[in-house]
Amino acid sequence: MAFESQDILVAKPIIGSEEREAVDRVLASGMVAQGPEVAAFEREFSEVLVPGVPSVAVNSGTSALHLGLLAAGIGPGDEVIVPAFTFAATANSVALTGAIPVFADIDPETFCLDAAAVRAAVTSNTKAVMPVHLYGQSADMTAFQQLADEHGLQIFEDAAQAHASSWDGRPVGSFGAFSAFSLYPTKNMTSGEGGMVTTPNEAVARSVRLLRNQGMEQQYRNEVAGLNNRMTDIHAAIGRVQLTKILDWTAKRQSNAAALDQGLAGLDGLQTPVVAEKATHVYHQYTIRLIGASANERDAFISTLKNEHGVGAGVYYPVPVNELESFRVEAHLPETKSAAQEVLSLPVHPSLEQGDLERIISAVSAVARAGASA
Ligand SMILES: *Cc1c(COP(=O)(O)O)cnc(C)c1O
Repeated sequence: MAFESQDILVAKPIIGSEEREAVDRVLASGMVAQGPEVAAFEREFSEVLVPGVPSVAVNSGTSALHLGLLAAGIGPGDEVIVPAFTFAATANSVALTGAIPVFADIDPETFCLDAAAVRAAVTSNTKAVMPVHLYGQSADMTAFQQLADEHGLQIFEDAAQAHASSWDGRPVGSFGAFSAFSLYPTKNMTSGEGGMVTTPNEAVARSVRLLRNQGMEQQYRNEVAGLNNRMTDIHAAIGRVQLTKILDWTAKRQSNAAALDQGLAGLDGLQTPVVAEKATHVYHQYTIRLIGASANERDAFISTLKNEHGVGAGVYYPVPVNELESFRVEAHLPETKSAAQEVLSLPVHPSLEQGDLERIISAVSAVARAGASA
């Protein structure tokens, strides 16, 4: 049976007339490369999301990670501990500095990197730990700060999915020697493509500014070998508009999640998101778990949701990063393995209406009940 009305998509970027007008203003100015819009976006990003911590704009979240790592002095011979249950960019950025990403397991409730697993993976070459605030929930920064103090490690935050999230009342992006945000269209806010490095360390900030621009501060006075990872004023203009909306959108994601939590509570074999006591969750993804499911069962659940109910769902992430062709590293990661086969993410984006939420709840309930009796 094909569903009659429109499908509910798992992600839906909101780009409206204000963004179009902002782009038009930049185009009309004739100056489109990195300039005053980028400078204003950097200031405003800090003000709204990470007060007191300077921001440096780049052309993607991956570039933010890569340049942040280089600026923090990570390179060949170093080990950086990362989760394998994440987008490949987390480990890619480490590998591209010449350092080794070492994969550690996750906490099965929050899906974020587990501090105890990280502690067991520390060696004399470990320079840093890079937790990911996965799905928009802050990792346990109290535990990571303690661990970093004990072992003399740097902390880097992959905050690509976690704009406006916090731990113990403090915003993500303010804990790390540097933190990286993504502004890709499906993230909680976008600049088209783009990324932001936040860092309290002026030397790291300056190094990222050099690295994004061929190693130059003054033209033709290149101080280091750098890249071209600049953000354009066109993208910054979009990002500035989105920044005026991110907090309202976040509140809407959170109220959508609360409605889903309530509607899906008590379904057999289905675990709704668990939020740690000190964390705020900004629901980049609303990720449920089909307890004990195989990957095939989970995938069938998603197909039925889509084909019979018109409800989109996604899997983030079906393959642990250490198992990807690009890494193929042996690691004992039982929680990562079971999460990769049991999770699915339901629509939670701010454009959902009451009727959409009701449709998602009744569809998921129906598929879960059919599965339980099969
Ligand atoms: C999206 C994402 C990135 C990379 O950001 P891009 O802007 O796509 O380069 C890095 N880490 C995580 C966890 C992400 O979700």
